[in-house]
Amino acid sequence: MDDDSDTGGSPDVIVGCTDCNSTYPAQRAGDGFRPIGTDGTCDCGNDEFETIDAD
Ligand SMILES: [Zn+2]
Repeated sequence: MDDDSDTGGSPDVIVGCTDCNSTYPAQRAGDGFRPIGTDGTCDCGNDEFETIDAD
């Protein structure tokens, strides 16, 4: 019912911007992450993110 295999919109991880610490649900994309709902960059313009360990 909620198979995410072809929607492209389900997050794998939560990531935080390395510059301003804004957090986004994101998908793994090659050697980095693609924050969902963005064009790949943070609102602040940074495009580097790191995973946040959320339980
Ligand atoms: Zn940012």
